Amino acid sequence: MKEFILALDQGTTSSRALLFDRDLQPVAAAQREFPQIYPQPGWVEHDPEVLWESQLAVLLEAIERAGCGPSAVAAVAVANQRETVVVWNRRTGQPIHNAIVWQCRRTADRCEELKARGVVDRIRDKTGLVLDAYFSATKIEWILDHVDGARAAARRGELLCGTIDSWLIWKLTGGQRHVTDFTNASRTMLFDVHALRWDDELLDLFGIPVSMLPEVVPSSGPAAVCALPGWNPRQPAVAGIAGDQQAALFGQGCFEPGQAKNTYGTGCFLLMNVGADPVVSRHGLLTTLTAQTRPGAPAYALEGSVFIGGAVLQWLRDELKILTHAADSDPIARSIPDTGGVYLVPAFAGLGAPHWDMYARGALLGLTRGTGRAQIVRAALESIAYQCADVAAAMAADGGRPLAVLRADGGAAANDFLMQFQADLLACPIERPACMETTAQGAAALAALDLGWHTPQTLAARPAEKTFVPVLSAENRQTRLAGWRKAVARAADWARNP
Ligand code: ADP
Repeated sequence: MKEFILALDQGTTSSRALLFDRDLQPVAAAQREFPQIYPQPGWVEHDPEVLWESQLAVLLEAIERAGCGPSAVAAVAVANQRETVVVWNRRTGQPIHNAIVWQCRRTADRCEELKARGVVDRIRDKTGLVLDAYFSATKIEWILDHVDGARAAARRGELLCGTIDSWLIWKLTGGQRHVTDFTNASRTMLFDVHALRWDDELLDLFGIPVSMLPEVVPSSGPAAVCALPGWNPRQPAVAGIAGDQQAALFGQGCFEPGQAKNTYGTGCFLLMNVGADPVVSRHGLLTTLTAQTRPGAPAYALEGSVFIGGAVLQWLRDELKILTHAADSDPIARSIPDTGGVYLVPAFAGLGAPHWDMYARGALLGLTRGTGRAQIVRAALESIAYQCADVAAAMAADGGRPLAVLRADGGAAANDFLMQFQADLLACPIERPACMETTAQGAAALAALDLGWHTPQTLAARPAEKTFVPVLSAENRQTRLAGWRKAVARAADWARNP
């Protein structure tokens, strides 16, 4: 009988499920969107039960589409949106509040207050993270502070919390297992990424009892047994778990120090494996754990994210209405030799790494009477590459060497113009894999290691579908980058009160 790995890819806007064969090729997939809840401007929630129902529905649908029956599932793998948290009752399994999503800014003031108390360095030293509302700790604290009786219940050991992987595995196991993996733990701002344990001092700071937290397990290995009633008598193990970006890093085969991937989605996430010795960034990047395949053998990554990546094309399409489809940007950009000096800085939500300027705002600079749609579309595509080049430069400075090659994935990586321009700006080749489902594939690969279907060597051996080689002269590159830096300087700090 043919066997498959069932990979769940629980994202911010949709839940997906894919079945992978022994060659880690996808054979069936299903996807379902779920509602975003915006209780106030800047706040974002998901209903944990709705999220689970959508995940369960696509899980069943993918198996149905493959026509193989549930008993063909040899193992389950989970990749998930990171940092988003759920708090639920240990006995009833009922969430006590909606999940607070990574994008949610409700704890920004609390973070400012903590910064004023001077804990920034302490948090960075232990967790590798910058003190920000983005991470889970202040979100859990907020739920404990705002749900009636929650703090007392937490103290009595009645509540559990976890990132989305924990919540899904709790559901998959019928409430039997409360676990998370190292990659997800490293995004909570409660986990010491050097000592590899929940940190008492930080738990104290946020008033979170350790009894609420999941057991931390390796990203590859039998973490839990699926016990969905009536689903699969074989009871496959959850054998691969990783936060989405680390899953993609693994799926791209970046197992060696210096290897890096960039996911070009709504935003962009550039991660570089730095090996067994954590690198503390001096240039605004995060230090985070990579998917761990052997207990006690951690490896670290540097991470930088760009808030507006492919989303800049959605803006051209939905707000400016000068594009019908994101993919049309490629031929439009190629219809002109350059932007004629036009730069678009898409700082719609401030600028992420390495600038960390929450007061920067979008700017379109260098306009002349000759500027038209093509120049603006091309400047938008180029802006994605410029922002990623800034992150790559920070990474090179922190890691002590420039990128040798960058592996690309995500929706906007389908754009050949963007990939070529990125190669030109970085002066390094960009490799794009044949299978762009690197997140789900990475989680499946972690499970495949556990099943003995693959070794790190066979996983690393998968070839690129297309390589983009830099052709731009060094002088030309420097001129363009200098123009970008000038444009960013004009957009910087724009929205700060006078
Ligand atoms: P996410 O996982 O963040 O939702 P995806 O990886 O699905 O994102 O990518 C979607 C993003 O990619 C959108 O912002 C869209 O504008 C962009 N995109 C999709 N196709 C193209 C294309 N051919 N060229 C440029 N951008 C694209």
